[in-house]
This record gives sequence, C-alpha cells and structure tokens, in this order.
Amino acid sequence: MKRYLCQRCTNCCRWPGFVKLTDADIPAIASFLGMEERQFIQEFTRLRPSRDGLALTDQPDGACIFLDGRDCRIQPVKPAQCGGFPNTWNFPGWREVCEAVEVEEFPGQREF
Ligand code: SF4
Repeated sequence: MKRYLCQRCTNCCRWPGFVKLTDADIPAIASFLGMEERQFIQEFTRLRPSRDGLALTDQPDGACIFLDGRDCRIQPVKPAQCGGFPNTWNFPGWREVCEAVEVEEFPGQREF
C-alpha cells in the first residue's frame, strides 16, 4: 500500500488556514503542556470562522503557534488534522507545496 512519508519541510505548518482542534486534541495538548484546559483554550486557540469549533492561533508571520524552527513543540500530541495530512486528507494541488515522499507501506509498519 502506498503512503506518504513526511519530510518535515514545515510547509503545512506555515500555509494560511486553520488547524482545527477536535474534542480529543484539547485535553491531550493541555496535559502535554501542563496546563488547565481552560488556560490552554484562552492562550492558544481561537474560534473558527464557521463558529463550529476551535483552531490553534498563529504566530505573527502566519505560522502555527507551536512551530519552533523546524520542530513542532507539541509533536507527540499534535492535532489530528496535522497527523493526518497528507495521508488521510489533502487538497487539490497539495503535491506542489508538500515535500512528503511516496513509500510502500508493509503490513504492520507505521512511521508516524
Ligand atoms: S508539507 Fe508535507 S512534508 Fe512538509 S511538513 Fe507538512 S506533511 Fe511534512
């Protein structure tokens, strides 16, 4: 089975848009940061334009608030949206902005 292996180019952490948070993402990230959920929500989230949930805030240059150089500060608990791209979801033209490489996945193998 083919899948794409992230090369950590961080392009998806920098392009415009919203990193949606699921109900499971919020307690996981708050706990990882050693914060109360309420405090995490106040400091690091905003209401999505559709008003149907929360998204992470951005840095002034538009990068994800948790991007630090080429590293994700919440990598072990990164939001489902981040972990799923580009294998579980992507968008037209994504190959032009994502450096992930196509690999053959063997049964039981999982890189991330
Ligand atoms: S754009 Fe693709 S290769 Fe780059 S960090 Fe995101 S998923 Fe990984």
